[in-house]
Amino acid sequence: MSIGTLFIVSAPSGAGKTSLVTALRESLEGFTVSVSHTTRTQRPGEVHGRDYFFVDHAEFERMIAADGFLEHARVFDNYYGTARTTVETALSEGQDVLLEIDWQGARQIRSLMPDSISIFILPPSRRTLEERLKARGQDDPDTIARRMRDAISEMSHYSEYDYLVVNDDFDRAVAELRSIVIASRLRTRRQFEACKDLIAGLLA
Ligand code: GDP
Ligand code: ADP
Ligand code: 5GP
Repeated sequence: MSIGTLFIVSAPSGAGKTSLVTALRESLEGFTVSVSHTTRTQRPGEVHGRDYFFVDHAEFERMIAADGFLEHARVFDNYYGTARTTVETALSEGQDVLLEIDWQGARQIRSLMPDSISIFILPPSRRTLEERLKARGQDDPDTIARRMRDAISEMSHYSEYDYLVVNDDFDRAVAELRSIVIASRLRTRRQFEACKDLIAGLLA
């Protein structure tokens, strides 16, 4: 079985990354979304093990010491990390794996896995970004102000990514993400295994 592709999706908080990735997951097979570990407080409606593994600093540090993270970074005063085992297992089973991580984590993954494909999601305007953060209704005003300030530094890293998607019309953005994943699955390297018998027959 061929090995899966690792996708990295980054965006400033509120740009719509989680909503887009949820919609993408519903419309494509063979796809695993990695669940990160974080020290941040659980939001209303978030489920441990589905949205994040919520852990305290001590547990996060134990995982760092045990080399349990593929990447980890500090974002908005909290720690976020991608556990190594789930990602490596899914990739080796031929699943595509998607990571929703910040630009610091994206850099670490790119140097570890140069074949990964990275996508940056931009909001259509600063005002829309702020409106979406408020509309989500899950962060207090101070947190929203902090996230708006940090959005600019996150967005300044857009050019390190392979693809840029603007999340203005939601369905269009989902279709664009889908097309990136589908095109990657059609690369000769990935098709070689699936088309082995066909090619052998055609060239016989
Ligand atoms: P404080 O040290 O408790 O005042 O608060 P900080 O936010 O500065 O850090 C909290 C804890 O997280 C510290 O004990 C750090 O050692 C620890 N920590 C967890 N993960 C990381 C990491 O990836 N990098 C660094 N530098 N520290 C981490
Ligand atoms: P992130 O994961 O990047 O922080 P979310 O997926 O939580 O962002 O989206 C932030 C808010 O914006 C949510 O309330 C979501 O429903 C809304 N949203 C996302 N994309 C769009 C869009 N294209 N048009 C309007 N609202 C959107
Ligand atoms: P939120 O708290 O809004 O879910 O996420 C805040 C930020 O942390 C986002 O920019 C998101 O991409 C980033 N993030 C979430 N999980 C991870 C992770 O496992 N690793 C890294 N490096 N960043 C993450």
